[in-house]
Amino acid sequence: MKIGDVSFWYGDIGLPYRRRALDGDATADVAIIGAGYTGLWAAWYLKAANPALDVLVIEKDFAGFGASGRNGGWLTGGFAWNHRRYLEGSSEHQVRAMVEAMGGTVDEVIRVAETQGIDADIQRTDELMVATKPAQLARMRAEVAHRRHWGEEERVYEIGADEVARRVRIPGALGAMVVANVARIQPAKLVRGLAAAVERAGVRIVEGTTVTGYDKGLVTTDRGQVRAPVILRCTEGFTAGLPGRKREWLPLNSAQIATEPLPPEVWEKIGWQGHEILGDFANAYCYCQRTREGRITVGARGVPYRFGSNLDVDGAPDAETVRRLVAILHRHFPAARGARIDHAWCGVLGVPRDWCATVGLDPATGLGWAGGYVGVGVSTSNLAGRTLADLVLGRNTDLVHLPWVNRRVKEWEAEPFRWLGVTGMYALLNAADRREDRPGAGPSRLAGLGNWLTGRS
Ligand SMILES: Cc1cc2nc3c(=O)[nH]c(=O)nc-3n(C[C@H](O)[C@H](O)[C@H](O)COP(=O)(O)OP(=O)(O)OC[C@H]3O[C@@H](n4cnc5c(N)ncnc54)[C@H](O)[C@@H]3O)c2cc1C
Repeated sequence: MKIGDVSFWYGDIGLPYRRRALDGDATADVAIIGAGYTGLWAAWYLKAANPALDVLVIEKDFAGFGASGRNGGWLTGGFAWNHRRYLEGSSEHQVRAMVEAMGGTVDEVIRVAETQGIDADIQRTDELMVATKPAQLARMRAEVAHRRHWGEEERVYEIGADEVARRVRIPGALGAMVVANVARIQPAKLVRGLAAAVERAGVRIVEGTTVTGYDKGLVTTDRGQVRAPVILRCTEGFTAGLPGRKREWLPLNSAQIATEPLPPEVWEKIGWQGHEILGDFANAYCYCQRTREGRITVGARGVPYRFGSNLDVDGAPDAETVRRLVAILHRHFPAARGARIDHAWCGVLGVPRDWCATVGLDPATGLGWAGGYVGVGVSTSNLAGRTLADLVLGRNTDLVHLPWVNRRVKEWEAEPFRWLGVTGMYALLNAADRREDRPGAGPSRLAGLGNWLTGRS
């Protein structure tokens, strides 16, 4: 089994060549820090709107090194938000507009991929979130009702145990939430293809160039300085590594495994012919995909957080995390018990103190940002890129009035409180799952307590 080495997705396509680094001091109209989906989408839409704009993307490792090249490949149009927090500053109409705009990102990402010839193993399908315990069923029904209330009644609905079994055979499945019009992707192929498309559009990307600080008009790197009136910070889960940003977004880990390609007789037992992106309603939930070549990937939290917001480097999860992921694989797909695990890896995602994604630009300083997507950034980053472009260009579009724009959120607590909060939350979520596993158990209060501890709900 390969451990780390960025991710299985690069095992699939090979680690990329490095573009050249910044070669001394430079200038640009817009400097973008970080070449993941967010930075690249922002560059794409800026250039599409104004081809004359000089856009420079500065990347510490290589384009797609971060979560964008490591994620679960769920392109869902879902996003991290909380209606109570949004309604403090926005109307119900604006909140519904936001849900609709996010839903539209699935088609938009696929549209650009098609027009740019990006082959990212994209398969349009449904999201299937399965409940295997009565407590999970109750949570699932509440989620379906919530999402339908906020404008997703056309694409979110519940199915019963028989219909789940017709699609995929998961032991003990009692029902599932279906989200239509989503897609499965190979994440590294998407981000690498996007980087190439952005370059073809005339954007400069420099790699192997670490930003060591930035302020109004100036980005400092280990390879020289960049002067630019607009600077966009697109570093998501890595933001804590920038000076003065340690407590802004908490870097949360998520880990995955990939099996070997499974033979047809195993697939016959599992079903899953629709290639749905598949998860469960456990408190410490999992997310899975059936890959292009018939592997199963399983993702879940593992060690949630490193003390002091320390960041992972090459994506190597610990042995206990791998053991837990394999246990989930065997529980949900017993027919795959004999399958070899080919790869295990992990990455970081950014979590704001209120667990809601944000995008914004301060016109006084020209400093902008986007992120804090809390693990659902594949589609959120696309809307972020479009919104950043509109904000930079001063366009008065519908996007710049959505509730997540220019939201300011308080910082996380100093250590050891950050570590205690997050570690305590996940301990409580895992304990809640153990309680809910008992026959006839309803939703455990421990989960609510865990979420309250960190302000997640
Ligand atoms: C394991 C895992 C599974 C996930 N699964 C899903 C999923 O299935 N669906 C979904 O919607 N979301 C998922 N997410 C979340 C999603 O992948 C991210 O939200 C999204 O990719 C963030 O994109 P980004 O461009 O903002 O950040 P990143 O892709 O992390 O890019 C940030 C970039 O900034 C660079 N950088 C950092 N510091 C510096 C510096 N000082 N100087 C220069 N460059 C710097 C990094 O090297 C990196 O390339 C997952 C995340 C993880 C970690």
